[in-house]
Amino acid sequence: MANVTVEQSKEWFARASAATPGGVNSPVRAFSAVGGTPRFMVRGEGAYLWDADGTRYVDLVSSWGPMILGHAHPAVVEAAREAATAGLSFGTPTIGEVELAEEIIGRVEPVQQVRLVNSGTEATMSAIRLARGFTERSKIIKFAGCYHGHVDALLAQAGSGVATLGLPTSPGVTGAQAADTIVLPYNDIDAVRAAFAENPGEIAAIITEAAAGNMGAVAPDQGFNAALREIAHANGALLIMDEVMTGFRVSAAGWFGLEAVPGDLYTFGKVMSGGLPAAAFGGRADVMARLAPTGPVYQAGTLSGNPVAVASGLATLRNADESVYRALDANSQRLGALFGRALSAAGVAHHVAYAGNLVSVFFTEEPVRNYHAATTAETWRFPPFFHALLERGVYAPPSAFEAWFVNAAMDDAVFEQIEAALTPAAEAAAAAKQAS
Ligand code: PLP
Repeated sequence: MANVTVEQSKEWFARASAATPGGVNSPVRAFSAVGGTPRFMVRGEGAYLWDADGTRYVDLVSSWGPMILGHAHPAVVEAAREAATAGLSFGTPTIGEVELAEEIIGRVEPVQQVRLVNSGTEATMSAIRLARGFTERSKIIKFAGCYHGHVDALLAQAGSGVATLGLPTSPGVTGAQAADTIVLPYNDIDAVRAAFAENPGEIAAIITEAAAGNMGAVAPDQGFNAALREIAHANGALLIMDEVMTGFRVSAAGWFGLEAVPGDLYTFGKVMSGGLPAAAFGGRADVMARLAPTGPVYQAGTLSGNPVAVASGLATLRNADESVYRALDANSQRLGALFGRALSAAGVAHHVAYAGNLVSVFFTEEPVRNYHAATTAETWRFPPFFHALLERGVYAPPSAFEAWFVNAAMDDAVFEQIEAALTPAAEAAAAAKQAS
């Protein structure tokens, strides 16, 4: 795809940068880690996006996870349209909220009750408050490279955009909030044991991505999640499984469907929203009962359970049948195989990593088990790799620390385009030079 024009995106980015810090409403979108002009997308359909200059892209971001059915799936659009026609927001209980909660409870066995919120960040923030209220303890354990949204207490050594921008944590997070967060290396169960030994009776919860997807795809070691549960319970703490990314994507029941290690609390977002702002937290009924109005732990939201967002999420889940999950698994394997073939042919050291059907590529031969390994890979090979794909109409995540999100609308033509783009992209990665 020679001579692709980005004039419209350039113009809009200049206007956006005047109106909004960095020109974006979420940092990774700004292309800071890869350089160049962020594309302003105007339309999505199936496996494709179109930008303001009329260029079509194969979309391997899928809105950072939600769009498992592909863009503008007719059943989801129709459900949202119908809900919108009936009124956009009431601030009262609605029937769809009950149905969405029941759908989640029906899929993820350890989840007995659900509260709907507006974003994954709200879900993890609320789950932590609830865990603290339930246990009457302050400290929490999180893992380096796991991202749980921009909650103050959870930003330390977070993955995703925090990793992309190379930030150790964020100014604005108070010392007290940071002091209550114990950050440990992912997949290091001895470190978890030691933290409990050093903080007896003080740790409310461990929060972990059920499988890490925000430092690239890094699956938990065999037995890691089970050990977290055992150690947490032996010490009177809760296990919060963050399934915002994995939930309803890696299987109908998320990561729980693959590993069956029950958490006490869960957080969800992305897929269950169908692409509109909706998320949830839920879990054991005795813990959820501590939440207002049945209990004293306060949590609320003007737009929580918004009827249009709920309709879009419900339609997505109801249309995500077995064939969709088979397609997601097959497409992620097919993408990973193409990465491997192209990078091997170009002689680039690499490791294709999977966590269920989350897939990513690390520029290192060693399997990546934690954040240290992810950040010490040859990430400087990523920007030219990314841009070679983009120039050929393949829209990859603009960061070396993100999972790639396939969708069920990808077909042979899509994969042919990806394969053709990967050969020059791998060559660009091979030719990359580390900045001195
Ligand atoms: N938890 C995980 C595992 C995530 O991947 C994300 C977002 O990427 C969040 C929480 C935060 O969700 P949101 O961006 O909807 O606030």
